[in-house]
Amino acid sequence: MRLIGINGGTFDPIHIGHLRPALEMQQTLGLDEVRFVPCYRPVHRGTPQVSAEQRCAMIELAIRHQPGFVLDTIEIDRGGSSYMVDTLAALKARFPQDALVLMMGTDAFLRFHTWHNWQEILRLANIAIAHRPGDGLPLSCEAGQILRAHHVKQLSAACEQIVDVAVTQLDVSSTAIRSALQQGLSVDYLLPPKVVDYIHKQHLYQNS
Ligand code: ATP
Repeated sequence: MRLIGINGGTFDPIHIGHLRPALEMQQTLGLDEVRFVPCYRPVHRGTPQVSAEQRCAMIELAIRHQPGFVLDTIEIDRGGSSYMVDTLAALKARFPQDALVLMMGTDAFLRFHTWHNWQEILRLANIAIAHRPGDGLPLSCEAGQILRAHHVKQLSAACEQIVDVAVTQLDVSSTAIRSALQQGLSVDYLLPPKVVDYIHKQHLYQNS
């Protein structure tokens, strides 16, 4: 049985806040693979500013040389609204022998109870929450109730378990990067250099 991390996001664009925590989670949890899954049409937010092809191209450039990191275009190929439960069901059918680990930051987990069919998500996968070292977990809110019911120190089953992983905090967001680019400011060191080059060559994020 392999452990396959599923790292979903808009990746508009991908940045070091997506990449470094993914690497640390891969190492801590012993993930055999981390599949970067760009959504086609996000359910909880506005349409991405650049095309799916351009977001994929940037992910490719960012992860190409990283062992175990893979681009998975499953949501883009499917089209329509990108529901994680559909993605996990399809991946479970594709990799029936393996265990799926849905990776997310604390900010994303705080809204987990609003995700479409979250109960089924837990039947299909484990969840790994990346949080700031030393920070407590969100236990008192609605998502916290789900966390308390499923929390484990170490993953030991193929699904229904939630584990937390302390990762280096990088206060970077795609929103801040898009905003800097619109103002003509440098985004060097916030993204891999090849992604910065691609953004400039393709003239991305110049207008809001
Ligand atoms: P935007 O600013 O456009 O909302 P974003 O930078 O928050 O985008 P998304 O592409 O929406 O990133 O990716 C969402 C996923 O990536 C979530 O699981 C979120 O927790 C995680 N993530 C995003 N930025 C960081 C960061 N700086 N550190 C850790 N995790 C992050």
